[in-house]
Amino acid sequence: MRYIIKGINEDESVCELCGKINLKRVVWLEDVETGHLTHVGTSCASKLRGLTVKDQKNDEKGFLADELERLRNEILPILKPLSQKSNEIRQKALDTAPEGKGLKVRRDHIRNYTHSIDTELRTLVEKLSIEYPNVIIRTYPTINIRYK
Ligand SMILES: [Zn+2]
Repeated sequence: MRYIIKGINEDESVCELCGKINLKRVVWLEDVETGHLTHVGTSCASKLRGLTVKDQKNDEKGFLADELERLRNEILPILKPLSQKSNEIRQKALDTAPEGKGLKVRRDHIRNYTHSIDTELRTLVEKLSIEYPNVIIRTYPTINIRYK
């Protein structure tokens, strides 16, 4: 196949082949013979690649799934240590929360305990969100990384 998918994103909203505008996202295709990169809509991508629209869509799904897996493998090792530490501290806070003194007392206790680690974790997630603008990162109750 002469054209391979190099990216799918919102960086452009125009199809370079047919001129269609207001596309929600574009498919970046590389011409393997010339190295030229072009951004097109899904139906033009299917034409260039000699595929049915359905097969093109499947390829795009596969590409996005692989891409998300790659992003997860990059982000998880950065996020995991702090997230684990946070869970440990949260558990400790729950274990030591005063019994029978009302919900507010317990909640404040847990908040005091976890405040510093929560701040640290939130700062890291914000930093990662700038570095990886196409994904949403959640850390609680478990780490969850998915597309916007
Ligand atoms: Zn087009």
